[in-house]
Amino acid sequence: MKNLIDGFLKFQNEAFPQRTELFKHLATTQQPGTLFITCSDSRVVPELLTQQEPGELFVIRNAGNIVPSYSPHPGGVSATVEYAVAVLGVTDIVICGHSDCGAMTAIAKCKCMDHLPAVSGWLQHSESAKVVNESRPHANDAAKLSSMVRENVIAQLANIQTHPSVRLAQEKGLLNLHGWVYDIEMGSIDALSADRRTFVPLADQPATCAIHAQTTHAA
Ligand SMILES: [Zn+2]
Repeated sequence: MKNLIDGFLKFQNEAFPQRTELFKHLATTQQPGTLFITCSDSRVVPELLTQQEPGELFVIRNAGNIVPSYSPHPGGVSATVEYAVAVLGVTDIVICGHSDCGAMTAIAKCKCMDHLPAVSGWLQHSESAKVVNESRPHANDAAKLSSMVRENVIAQLANIQTHPSVRLAQEKGLLNLHGWVYDIEMGSIDALSADRRTFVPLADQPATCAIHAQTTHAA
C-alpha cells in the first residue's frame, strides 16, 4: 500500500500543480467525448494507451470488457452506459479487449469454474462469442485465445446495441461504435473494420470504425 500513498504524494506535488487550470475547470463539470469499456486487467490502462487527460474518457471496466444485453433488470454496466450516452452525450463508444485476457482464457480453455460462481455467471454474457469461436478450427491454443478475444469484442458490440439509449443515439446518427483489441507486449491496437469480421492495425488505418454513426442513421 505504501507505493500507492507515495504515488498520491507525487501526484499532489508534481502532476496536480501542472494541471491546476484543468482541475479548476473540471471541478464542477465533465464533457467526455468517449465511453471506453475495457477489462479490469491491471495491464490495460485506457488513459495511458490513448494519452488522454482527466475529463476525456468515461470508463467502464470489468472482467472481460463485457456489456450485458439490456434486460428488465439492468445492472451497473447498463446504468453507466445509459448515463454516458443519454446524459453526457458521448459521441463514441470503444469496447476494448486485450491479449492474454484471463476471462477469455477461461472461456477458450473451458476451465472448470465451479469455485468461481460469480465469474462463471458473468462470463455467460460472452456465450455467443464462445459458441462461434468453438465452431472454428484453430491452429493452436494461442490462436484460439486471440480469436476468442476478438469474437468477444464483436459479441459485446452486439450486446450494447440492445440498450435503448444506444439505439436512440444511433437512430439520431450521433454515435460511433468501435471494437479494439490491445496487444500488451507490442503496444499495438487492432480495430474491427466496418465489415464486422476483420481486425486491422489501427496505426495503419486510424479512421477504422466498426459501426459509423452515419451508416446507422435512419433519416
Ligand atoms: Zn482481461
